[in-house]
Amino acid sequence: MEKKLELEGKKALVTGASRGIGRAILESFLAEGAEVWGLSTREPEDLQNMKEKAGGLLHWVTADLSKVTEVEAIIEKAQKEAGGFDILVNNAGITKDGLAFRMSLEDFQKVLDINLTAAFLIARTVGREMIRRKSGSIINMSSVVGIHGNGGQANYAASKAGLIGVTKSLAQEVASRGVRVNAIAPGYIVTDMTDAIPEAAKEKLMDHIPLKRLGSPTDIANMALFLASDRASYITGQVIAVDGGMFI
Ligand code: NAD
Repeated sequence: MEKKLELEGKKALVTGASRGIGRAILESFLAEGAEVWGLSTREPEDLQNMKEKAGGLLHWVTADLSKVTEVEAIIEKAQKEAGGFDILVNNAGITKDGLAFRMSLEDFQKVLDINLTAAFLIARTVGREMIRRKSGSIINMSSVVGIHGNGGQANYAASKAGLIGVTKSLAQEVASRGVRVNAIAPGYIVTDMTDAIPEAAKEKLMDHIPLKRLGSPTDIANMALFLASDRASYITGQVIAVDGGMFI
């Protein structure tokens, strides 16, 4: 018997999809039959190849989400083109690390703008249409740092903790309308974002990770796929850590 694809007939918007975790999510959604709109500041270099491989199921939006006043119009345009999204993954995010006492207001604000404010505006824009259609799954990419905090990342921790607040509140507002909202809290995942962590610091991290490895983008994509699919139809308002059992 032929296996049915998990996301056949679904339309998904994945932000921060050009590389790292977002790219792995986009690829896993395509592999499971979804039509996907990727969004990032710049197109991935191999976009043409990706499109050919996806056979008409991949679309791209380039946008700078730090320009928060433009976000809703950009997403509305993509949403109109798609005819509504069934799945949203708010994954785009940045870090601008520094000790709190030395952090410029600009560096604090910029991280909040992209990681939290833009994600909130996108969730609202896409969520409105999901409510009209009485179905949808929104996944916000938080972080273990949003749960535990992290010295040198007050701005990032605030943005990721804020995203947990948005997730739980929105989940309560839209549950009766058939829309689910969850967050994933990845631990340390091997991507460009964590490239700069010195080897010695990575070694030290192992003392806090029972599964004794850093995560891969696929580890996160597997959870996103599950939360996006109907297999997670009784799960909303949750923050699910995918972190190798990390403790501090
Ligand atoms: P990455 O730096 O490899 O990729 C970031 C993506 O976000 C890129 O596609 C980039 O184009 C996009 N992006 C950044 N700024 C943008 C902007 N202004 N407008 C539009 N798009 C923008 O990051 P990653 O490691 O894959 O992380 C993805 C998400 O997962 C982020 O939200 C990050 O905070 C979160 N996360 C990552 C880790 C980790 O260890 N890598 C851990 C916890 C949470």
